[in-house]
Amino acid sequence: MKTAKIKNSTRELEMGKIVCVGRNYAEHAKELGNEVPEFPLIFLKPVSALISSGKNIIHPDFSDDMHHEVELVLLLDKTVKNASLQEAEDAIAGYAVGLDMTLRDIQNELKKKGHPWTIAKCFDTSAVISPFMLKSEYKLKGNERIVLEVNGEERQNSTLDKMIFSPAEIVKYISSKLTLESGDLIYTGTPEGVGKVVKGDKLKAYIENVGELTTQVV
Ligand code: MG
Repeated sequence: MKTAKIKNSTRELEMGKIVCVGRNYAEHAKELGNEVPEFPLIFLKPVSALISSGKNIIHPDFSDDMHHEVELVLLLDKTVKNASLQEAEDAIAGYAVGLDMTLRDIQNELKKKGHPWTIAKCFDTSAVISPFMLKSEYKLKGNERIVLEVNGEERQNSTLDKMIFSPAEIVKYISSKLTLESGDLIYTGTPEGVGKVVKGDKLKAYIENVGELTTQVV
């Protein structure tokens, strides 16, 4: 059982499934040569892939091109199915900063063959998460800065208002396709600037007023 760490709270919430959104920033879709989608592009990660800030990312030996993707992560604390926009907003309990680590070489091979992205996205330690900030403690304005540094050098730097689909729009859309439950996490997509990391690299990610995480690739 993995539980969500929540800032200034002793509440323990068991984490459920992890739903991820792809291509939610136009500049990132462009840098990988992808179209901007009409609907959120979604895929899953298993909860076994999740590690908290301070733990190491273990580089799989079957890839030579692991990429960092810094993302806003939503924590749900309600069951929602076919939610309205307001119900979707109400189901979001809090926010964190996360890393959706991706094996880009494997993903490109899978994409070419039309196969699912599972091996590129679901490996152990591929989902890094900071402690959660409850919405009751901080209400997201939308223009917060989202940043990723590798060995002290800035690689990704954008703002949350560049997202194509907002958090509530994402929850509404996903809930129209599958039930979302309390403890589920949603990784909402990465801005431009994704790139390769190698063993020994130290990563720091943060979203202004929301949270910060640190990790190392080993
Ligand atoms: Mg991603």
